[in-house]
Amino acid sequence: MGLFDRKYCDVCGDKIRLLGNKKLKDGNLCKNCASQLSPWFDERRDSRVEEIKEQLAYREKNKEVLQAFSATRSFGQQRTKLLLDEKAKKFLVTKTGKLHEENPDVLDYSQVNGCDLDINERKQEKTREVKSSDGKTKKVSYQPPRYTYSYDFYVRIYVNHPYFNEIKYRLNRSSIEYEPRDSSFQMNTGQVIGSVLTGLHDAVSIASSGRGAEASGRIDHALSSDPRMQIPDYAECYRMGMEIKTALSQIQEEVRDEYIVASQPKQAVTCPHCHATTYPTESSTCEYCGGALN
Ligand SMILES: [Zn+2]
Ligand SMILES: [Zn+2]
Repeated sequence: MGLFDRKYCDVCGDKIRLLGNKKLKDGNLCKNCASQLSPWFDERRDSRVEEIKEQLAYREKNKEVLQAFSATRSFGQQRTKLLLDEKAKKFLVTKTGKLHEENPDVLDYSQVNGCDLDINERKQEKTREVKSSDGKTKKVSYQPPRYTYSYDFYVRIYVNHPYFNEIKYRLNRSSIEYEPRDSSFQMNTGQVIGSVLTGLHDAVSIASSGRGAEASGRIDHALSSDPRMQIPDYAECYRMGMEIKTALSQIQEEVRDEYIVASQPKQAVTCPHCHATTYPTESSTCEYCGGALN
């Protein structure tokens, strides 16, 4: 086998273009087939040809499910959006908004396992330049040291799905920079974040018990003690992330409630009076004729 031997895609049979090969565990995949895999799937290299074929068949079916999807709520101002179809109890995350081209996976509410908002912080020391006696400039630390911070917000939705277990995406378009005006932020950051998190934790548990308005009030209150909330982009991402987290915990609650209702034992009986098949009412009477069933 020479270096320039052409390979063929094990799924569609097309010749694979130079540098266009996507390796599988036991074969090769062309770029076009790879582009049709789920956007949340990242285990291609560990997948067999058969598994990829199965996934592509599922992705074709997803196009039909997507046709029937009708968004009633949308979260996110940037390109990546979480869309809910509250009637069908389905959701999706789209990176482009062009649903037809993108074919984002449509999931049922019951597939949600949880949601986190991850805020990645990078900290960098700020220095100043001083001229030394030989005329050269050098960088020295401030006393006390000063830092700049940059933040990225990631939504992570944990799901039950055959091809991926997480939908992760960034809320901010570019990293959000923060430079504290004084050094008290550095000293108190642990304390500030601790009190914010406690407040948010309370808010989410309030939201999951269905009191959405009260929860968002709690969120605002918790966040007001964080000086970074003065940065508009930071505040917007935080609120959006918390809104998404709250919405998903409500979804989980809805699924749980339905499960409880559905698992109530109900047994149909034949009424001895009117002979209808009936579910006994709370007072053990027939739904149709009202006759006693015991
Ligand atoms: Zn192919
Ligand atoms: Zn009856």
